[in-house]
Amino acid sequence: MNIFDQIMPLNSVGNEVSGYINALNEEFYIQLSVQESKQIKKIRLSGCEKLQKLLKPVQDDLEQHLLQTNSVTDMLHEIQNVLIMQLRSTAINQTVDLHMGYNLLLEQLQAVGWDKVHYISSDFQSVHLKAIDEFDREHILKLWIPEKFPKEPPRYEYDLPEVFDFKWLPDDTFSTIFSAFQEVLMKHSEFWDNLDEIDAKTWVLEPENPKRSDCKRRIAISSGVSLLLLVDPARPTAVPTCSYLGPDRIVEPVREKFNSNIHLWSEYNSLLYNLKQVLEIEFPSPESATKEEFCMECGICYSYHLGDAVPTMNCDNSSCNQMFHHSCLYEYIRMLPDVRTSFNKLFGECPYCSKPLWCTVP
Ligand SMILES: [Zn+2]
Ligand SMILES: [Zn+2]
Repeated sequence: MNIFDQIMPLNSVGNEVSGYINALNEEFYIQLSVQESKQIKKIRLSGCEKLQKLLKPVQDDLEQHLLQTNSVTDMLHEIQNVLIMQLRSTAINQTVDLHMGYNLLLEQLQAVGWDKVHYISSDFQSVHLKAIDEFDREHILKLWIPEKFPKEPPRYEYDLPEVFDFKWLPDDTFSTIFSAFQEVLMKHSEFWDNLDEIDAKTWVLEPENPKRSDCKRRIAISSGVSLLLLVDPARPTAVPTCSYLGPDRIVEPVREKFNSNIHLWSEYNSLLYNLKQVLEIEFPSPESATKEEFCMECGICYSYHLGDAVPTMNCDNSSCNQMFHHSCLYEYIRMLPDVRTSFNKLFGECPYCSKPLWCTVP
């Protein structure tokens, strides 16, 4: 049986053929012609892209061999053998590459310490390393391994209040990036100490589940009144940026107290201690109150969370005090038949007590 039954002669002499040649169950399109004149033999070999790609590294050797053969069939045998050899060696190289990749990753993880390995994806492309800081807080460094690792840097993700910019060099390993990460953690220790105290001893209305990178906290002062803090991660006990949310007549005295007592603020004391000193209050906490007392729902949509927003507008009538989302109140006033506009403000009345109320145009 002719094993080259998919190859057809292109002329009656049979020195020019084309068709399909099989090697390790793969088909390759091939074109071969042999020209002989005055004892000079010329061979032209071409074919599909994958055939040319496989033969290219051995092109010169192959041509020498082919010149010594006597028939086109022998040439085809020769080509077929070379194709099989080439296919096998690429397959081996790929496996070797893969093994080297795994071994390298395992070696690097070993060097970091298996107790620090929090997660490895089944395809080995993503690794999470866990650091415990001096106050037992867990921090995760997520790494994604590129194909050309370690020449190419891994992509990484972290939860820190500041940018962690690690300049990856080809000699770097998981250990070097992990050590740099641990150093940055130490730098933020004081920031987290202060925010942990706030989170534990006050009612934090926002964010609902603070991340280690969050510098903002909105904490309850009393029903419908809260204080929004923006803390500087580099100087966590310095006076934070403060804004108050709630009815003006309640917020105004709180703001005045803060300003008149600001000389009591000391960076040597904790953030919470300082806030209590200058505001002369005890903040409501999980020990003294339930969160629902402070999460006053919007009087228009009856929910607390509306996307990222919480109710921040309120009716200033002391017997009403109803809270509203800014967008809900804006839509409500805008639709009133007797709405009045002045600059960027809309004037209407409270849907509950009908006292005058205004809201800015978003
Ligand atoms: Zn609403
Ligand atoms: Zn009202």
